Amino acid sequence: MPGFELFGESEKSQVQDVLDSGVLMRYGFDGMRNNHWKALELEAALSKRMESKYAQLVSSGTAALTVALASAGVGAGDEVIMPTFTFVASFESILAIGAIPILVDVDDTLTLSPEAVENAITDKTKVVMPVHMCGSMADLGALKAICDKHNLLLLEDACQAIGGSYDGKPLGSYGDLGCFSFDYVKTITCGEGGAIITNNEQYKINADHYSDHGHDHVGNNRGTETHPFLGYNFRISELHAAVGCAQIERLDDFLSIQKKNYTVLRDALSPLANITFRKVPEGGVENYSFISFFLPTTELAKKAHTALGEAGVDACFYWFDNNWHYYKKWEHLTHKRSLGKLPQEVVNQLPDYSKSDFSKSDAWIGRTISCLVKLSWTDEQVTERAAKMKDVLEKFI
Ligand SMILES: *Cc1c(COP(=O)(O)O)cnc(C)c1O
Repeated sequence: MPGFELFGESEKSQVQDVLDSGVLMRYGFDGMRNNHWKALELEAALSKRMESKYAQLVSSGTAALTVALASAGVGAGDEVIMPTFTFVASFESILAIGAIPILVDVDDTLTLSPEAVENAITDKTKVVMPVHMCGSMADLGALKAICDKHNLLLLEDACQAIGGSYDGKPLGSYGDLGCFSFDYVKTITCGEGGAIITNNEQYKINADHYSDHGHDHVGNNRGTETHPFLGYNFRISELHAAVGCAQIERLDDFLSIQKKNYTVLRDALSPLANITFRKVPEGGVENYSFISFFLPTTELAKKAHTALGEAGVDACFYWFDNNWHYYKKWEHLTHKRSLGKLPQEVVNQLPDYSKSDFSKSDAWIGRTISCLVKLSWTDEQVTERAAKMKDVLEKFI
């Protein structure tokens, strides 16, 4: 998956443009910048590639989620439905604006179960936030129908699935808002960075202002700009955006390498009777950043994961026991361990997750192993890896 594996001359040349001008900030300093506007350039490239009217770059994927929620007017006490299997950034971004993360089960897509979503809706629900984990997507058609029926926003976290598609549309562009991360381990990277895409002009304007202290960006004097509403600083720097300008040009090459490597692994594992693959919703195309599959039981999955590691098959994840990606280890959320006082809405409304029944999630995640698909493998390495995986996995029945 990681774009850093193929960091090269084009990234260096883009960064050098910025270093030559010395203007490291995305706004202002028009005369000094030799016409280099890397953040603007990357926003244009991103909105084009993602077939969305607008893109807003920010400092991280977590910032993108936070800014997306804020831009859509989500705030204190609003409920946001999110999956039990995701990165902690999902609830961090929700809590950051005083909203309430409502965890619900995932299904065999390893993403939000539409049925669980429907059951979790209350009169406080504002947003459904599917997370396209490990390169594949939620059943966006079903989720959109639920959102339309209940007048909710659909916010796609496509941080791990950039370049995948659903119903012919790039992931992130199907919902009202979509978010990407360009942190160091994502399919394309800026070092640190993130983006929001949307077709909604007001959300774009809000995101543009909110991510820069409320600046309205009218005129060419930052000091005299006005601030129509409260904001924050979630800006990306020109240096980071420059890296992204190079990486987005390579996205489709990265995707084809991932697909090629994924296919070798998939073809090797497909004949195994004890392995089934995660479900990809009809109309979905993965970005192939991971290959995820189920063993027959949780016990076997645990053992198979250990055996893969011992056989030297690296970068395989057993999410069920993972500190960062599965609700079981989110004790800091469950026990509301914050440095300072939490907003009263959060204190009052956050469900007691120590008592929640997520056995449906456990039944899928407990059986799941996900292996990273790398860009830098040689054909020989992939073939060797595929054979090793098959040898190890066929024993676990
Ligand atoms: C990486 C990631 C994020 C957060 O991105 P950062 O840029 O690291 O803040 C959010 N959601 C998911 C699913 C991610 O994988």
